[in-house]
Amino acid sequence: MHVMRRLKSYAVGRSSVSEPIGDHAGGLVSEKLGCESGHFDATGKAAEDLEDTRMAPARVEPRRTAPSSSSCLSGKGVDLLPKEMHGMKLRDNRLEDCNNSKEGPAVIASSNSTEAGSIIVTTVAGPNGQQKQVISYMAERVVGTGSFGIVFQARCMETSESVAIKKVLQDKRYKNRELQIMQMLDHPNIVSLRHCFYSNTDKDELYLNLVLEFVPETVYRVAKHYSRVNQRIPLIYVKLYTYQICRALAYIHTGLGICHRDIKPQNLLVNPHTHQLKLCDFGSAKVLVKGEQNIAYICSRYYRAPELIFGAVFYTTAIDIWSVGCVLAELLLGQPLFPGESGVDQLVEIIKVLGTPTREEIKCMNPNYTDHKFPQVKAYPWHKVFPKRTPPEAVDLVSRLLQYSPNLRYTALEACVHPFFDELRDPNTRLPNGRSLPALFNFKPQELKGASPELLHKLIPEHAKRYM
Ligand code: ADP
Repeated sequence: MHVMRRLKSYAVGRSSVSEPIGDHAGGLVSEKLGCESGHFDATGKAAEDLEDTRMAPARVEPRRTAPSSSSCLSGKGVDLLPKEMHGMKLRDNRLEDCNNSKEGPAVIASSNSTEAGSIIVTTVAGPNGQQKQVISYMAERVVGTGSFGIVFQARCMETSESVAIKKVLQDKRYKNRELQIMQMLDHPNIVSLRHCFYSNTDKDELYLNLVLEFVPETVYRVAKHYSRVNQRIPLIYVKLYTYQICRALAYIHTGLGICHRDIKPQNLLVNPHTHQLKLCDFGSAKVLVKGEQNIAYICSRYYRAPELIFGAVFYTTAIDIWSVGCVLAELLLGQPLFPGESGVDQLVEIIKVLGTPTREEIKCMNPNYTDHKFPQVKAYPWHKVFPKRTPPEAVDLVSRLLQYSPNLRYTALEACVHPFFDELRDPNTRLPNGRSLPALFNFKPQELKGASPELLHKLIPEHAKRYM
């Protein structure tokens, strides 16, 4: 009964993202699978690193109902900006100095209205210490409301460029990790940071504003569009999106040691004309250092790697690869592959498809789980998971990304050379609208670090070599 109660409270109550799996998890999983309760030892509970704990509780995501950015497509016109933009004061905004809130004179915004049309005036230092330049943004509409703040679309009045401004509450005691990481990044498949500035509210709360290039769509909304009209996403888009996510990950994983830790369709921005994809939301990202602990309660539920559910604290960038596998499967299926209703239920959903992990696999996910007994469930064949017409290469790629053992999962670059993406390397392939494919082979040296000659040979087709 106790287990049942726990199960129900998990199911109706809190999100899994902040639920470290407890001692009863094995029992809960057993019960969900209709088997005898087993004991599940949680000796490997997340030892929380200080910086991570500050961010994790805020990243709790409710069971997916509406997209975080639903307002953008609501068609109801323009949304109001939030209250804290009343009487906004803006401070110095040199990119390098963004973490130093004491810098620079306060500039009062020229409008205290919360409606679209508010003007936000800020300054940036010119290149090489040249005179500061004034930049003004006209707020247009809210395009995303996350657990950390809001994202609104704005237009730079000097250049007419459309930007997205992500405004997050800044804890004055700490540097903002999202900003630090974004400043390291420069890749065609990662949203670029134009600059940043601070703003205060009347209550003297400090906000960090990240000014990003604006990208109008997300994979989440593209997928939702097709599912609404009862259609599968055209395979060419599935290939393009998955390939470009893998490229972005090859760059951050291999080149920089950064793990994104929140790969999901909502964080994959798409240009609907070119189908270029850009990874966004580095609010959970972290440079993973071998031998150092990280929190396990990270990443949105459906896309959480099983080692995180098992409470692993020494995980690797392979957690992002699991999430990519979930996104690819979702695009092929038209719905999430593992729609867990709670943290524990998430593991149940995974077991229903992959079968019960072996003792060896559990050890690979979290060596601290020693005393475990799971009901034995057989793996469901991958080809039966997907509709009949799904190409076997697509199914094969999913199976190589969604491995229990993190070390057995493909790396991001290995995924890029998978035959599923061969069509993208064909010089004759075009988008359904007749346009050329977006740039797919403009690799940065960091992306290709450590790649073998055979891999490079497969990765860069002949027709692209002359541009390298
Ligand atoms: P949070 O960390 O608060 O969830 P995100 O960075 O994930 O914030 O952004 C939330 C939503 O805002 C995204 O899902 C997307 O719809 C929208 N968004 C974020 N960045 C951009 C951008 N550069 N261009 C357009 N929309 C964006």
